[in-house]
Amino acid sequence: MSVQVRQMVKSFGAFRAIDDLSVTFQSGKISVMLGASGCGKTTTLRCIAGLENPNGGEIRIEDEPVFSSARGIDLPPEKRRLGMVFQSYAVWPHLTVRGNVGMPLRAQKVPKEQIERRVQETLAIVGLSEQADKSAMKLSGGQQQRVSIARCLVGNPRLILMDEPLSNLDARLRVEMRNEIRQLQQRIGATILFVTHDQEEAMSLADEIFLFNKGKVEQQGSPEDLYFRPAARYVAEFLGKANLFPVTLRGEADQTAVYAANSDHLIAKGDIVRQSRDDEALCMIRPESWQIGAAEGDRIGLPATVLEAVFVGDRRELHVDTPIGRQIVVTPGHQRFSTGARISLTIAPQQIHLLPDHP
Ligand code: ATP
Repeated sequence: MSVQVRQMVKSFGAFRAIDDLSVTFQSGKISVMLGASGCGKTTTLRCIAGLENPNGGEIRIEDEPVFSSARGIDLPPEKRRLGMVFQSYAVWPHLTVRGNVGMPLRAQKVPKEQIERRVQETLAIVGLSEQADKSAMKLSGGQQQRVSIARCLVGNPRLILMDEPLSNLDARLRVEMRNEIRQLQQRIGATILFVTHDQEEAMSLADEIFLFNKGKVEQQGSPEDLYFRPAARYVAEFLGKANLFPVTLRGEADQTAVYAANSDHLIAKGDIVRQSRDDEALCMIRPESWQIGAAEGDRIGLPATVLEAVFVGDRRELHVDTPIGRQIVVTPGHQRFSTGARISLTIAPQQIHLLPDHP
C-alpha cells in the first residue's frame, strides 16, 4: 500500500509543524522518517493515521484519498485500514498474551473460532506461541513490545505505522528487534512507515529514509545515498560524523584536483564526481574513509598529528591536526596510537563527496 502526501500543512496555533509536505512512501517497503525532535515526524504519521487533522493538502492510501481539504474528505482512523505501534507499548497487564492479541478482533465482534486461529497465526509470526497463556505482565520488555506488534498485525493491516516503537528497550534488545521487524516485513510484505530520531536505527531498518527538518523533507533516498552522498551539510551531519571543509577544484574530468580552500593543500586528484560547474565546494569525508598510510598511486599523503585517540571497542576515533585543519579518523579498535604520534593520511578520490558550499 503506497501512501501519497500532497502539499500537506499542519499548524498548531501560529506554529507550522508541517510545511507544504509532498512525499510518497512506496508499497511493500520500510520507509523511515528520521529527524531531530520537533521536526514533524510524529505529526506526519498521526495525520496519515487520521489522529490529527491537517489544515490543508491531501493524503492517499493506495490511491484512495483518506484526507483531502479541497474535496472535504476525512476518513476516521478505523476506516483507513492500517495498524499502529507506539513507543508506549501498553499491554493490558491483567490479560494473557493471547487475550491481549485477540482484543482488537473481539472489539470488532469477529467470530470466536476465527479469533483463535488469527491469534495463533500472529503469535507464531512474532515468535510468542509458547508464551500464549502467560500473563502479559510476566514478559520482558522486548516480549511486551512483540505483543503490541502482534496486536497490530492481528487485523492483517497492509499498512503499519510505527512511532519510535523501540525507544523504551535497552540497546541490545533494540538491535534484536530491528532485525525482527525487517524479517517480519519481508514475511508479510506490508508497507511500514517507521518514525525514529536514531540515525543508526534508521539506516539499519530502512529501504528508504526521509530526513525531516523543520516540517519538510530535507532529503530522501537509500541509507547509503544519505550517508555517502548527502545533498546538504545538515544531512551529512545528521547521519553520522563527517569531516567537512571548503575546497577549490581545478582541472577537469578524471584529472580533477581538490585543494583545501584554507591552505591550498592538495588533498586528492583523480576522477571526482562534481555536482556542479562551480569551482568552490564543501568537501565531505567520512572518518572511516581516511586511511592511515603513505602516499601511493593516486593517493596523496596528508601529514597529521594525533591529538586524541578515543577507544570505542570495535573502533578507535582519532582526532588529528593536519594542514587542512582538524579531522576525525576512525581506525580498528586494536590499533593503538599515542598522543602526539605523527601519521600520514590518504583518501581514495572516489570517497570524496562534494556538496554545494552554502548553508
Ligand atoms: P519527537 O521526536 O520529539 O516526537 P517529532 O519530529 O515527532 O519530534 P512532532 O511531534 O511531529 O515532532 O512535533 C512537531 C512540532 O509540533 C513540535 O514543535 C511540537 O512541539 C509541535 N506540536 C506537536 N503536537 C502539538 C500539539 N498537539 N499542540 C501544539 N504543538 C504541537
